[in-house]
Amino acid sequence: MRNVDVVIVGASLAAAAAAKRTVDAGLETVVLERKELPRHKICSGILSPRGHRFLLENFGPLPRETLHEPTSCRGVTFHFPCRVEMPMDFFHGTTPHLHRKYSDHWAIQRSGAEVHDQTSFAGLDDKGDHVLVHARRGGEAIEYRARQVIGADGPSSLVVRSVYPDYTKQIPWFFVGQKFHEIIDCPLSADYFHFWFHPGLGHYTWSHARDGRQIVGVGFKRGDNFAKKHQVVEQYLRDKHGVHLKPADDDHEGCAENFGPSLINRYVFGKGNVLLTGQAAGFLNMIGEGMSCALHSGAITGEAIVEAQRRNRPVQEIYRRMIASEVRRCSDQWNPLKIAFDRPHEADFPEALMKLSWRERGLVLRDMWNFIVLFKEFKWGRQIAAAALQRPLLGAYPMQKWL
Ligand SMILES: Cc1cc2nc3c(=O)[nH]c(=O)nc-3n(C[C@H](O)[C@H](O)[C@H](O)COP(=O)(O)OP(=O)(O)OC[C@H]3O[C@@H](n4cnc5c(N)ncnc54)[C@H](O)[C@@H]3O)c2cc1C
Repeated sequence: MRNVDVVIVGASLAAAAAAKRTVDAGLETVVLERKELPRHKICSGILSPRGHRFLLENFGPLPRETLHEPTSCRGVTFHFPCRVEMPMDFFHGTTPHLHRKYSDHWAIQRSGAEVHDQTSFAGLDDKGDHVLVHARRGGEAIEYRARQVIGADGPSSLVVRSVYPDYTKQIPWFFVGQKFHEIIDCPLSADYFHFWFHPGLGHYTWSHARDGRQIVGVGFKRGDNFAKKHQVVEQYLRDKHGVHLKPADDDHEGCAENFGPSLINRYVFGKGNVLLTGQAAGFLNMIGEGMSCALHSGAITGEAIVEAQRRNRPVQEIYRRMIASEVRRCSDQWNPLKIAFDRPHEADFPEALMKLSWRERGLVLRDMWNFIVLFKEFKWGRQIAAAALQRPLLGAYPMQKWL
């Protein structure tokens, strides 16, 4: 059995950030990754400016192979059924278009941690002063003993299920899928990530250029039909935007997403010596941007472990105090009061709205409302309103709602 200070599950961006902190503090850190590295990761790869700064400051300049073509993104364009378009540039200039297969591998290597790929986390036993981690590699069972374990294993986290077996049944699940098309004619600007606030298309509809092809993506409540949903969006793009694409290539992909916890401040940060971070913990910014909060929450998780070991304090107590700053940043992005009176995002939505005529503003707000109504069945309205009010009154989002 391997005896280490920290085991991190998932060779993700959150893991790389956490490992950077624990390795720099001299803690022996092993990262377990179920896939062979470099591994594929479904993602649009549009890194927010804050995420970009984190990578630069912690891991250095990005090598060319960590980027797709176009290599950068200027901002986001919102589209509405009323046919108004709102292009919004990111603050401080363009951001990289990450090729997750290579960017994540680069970051985890730069963290300095020892990485065991093709090694699947299978379960754990928290013994109080250490954690036994059960894993499998090539059909063989392996055990690790660690002082702390970090679950950085993404939305369908097995570490979350090991600690809170019922949690995944308590949250709604979505499916997001994307298909890749050769382009015949595409008037959508390749400089922007395009997002549709259109209830008739789905809960999450996007398109952007990548490596000479056009991505058409759809997100919806799990259980619906990907092919049909995609067909509706493809047709809409053709009819309303003049986007002419060849039939989708064979390499389409999709996955389950735990969208929701950051909207209602229902994060899951772990128990005892097991800490959860990144999307496993529920971090997801507006329009599904999850890399910057994965990086920042990951770093905080690593710092909390270093701090807990240094001061010999219970790690959960320290972690929850430290992670509150990232909770504020992430949940602020969904907070209607913050959106109306502050600038919680990394592009200026209020400014773009003010550039429209009064009539267009009215149409956009009406369309946004109709889009929000699509999410009515999840009964998030009251919880979002309560969190929105608690934020200015308490200066924070209440920790009592976290698991
Ligand atoms: C279609 C799509 C488009 C997106 N576009 C963007 C975007 O443009 N910008 C953005 O910022 N975000 C985007 N996101 C979100 C972003 O990809 C995630 O929020 C982010 O990758 C979460 O990072 P993470 O570090 O928490 O975990 P992940 O990146 O999910 O990584 C988890 C890792 O854990 C490994 N793992 C899982 N289970 C086990 C196990 N049992 N044992 C060992 N290893 C395991 C996985 O193989 C994986 O390597 C998108 C997501 C999707 C699905």
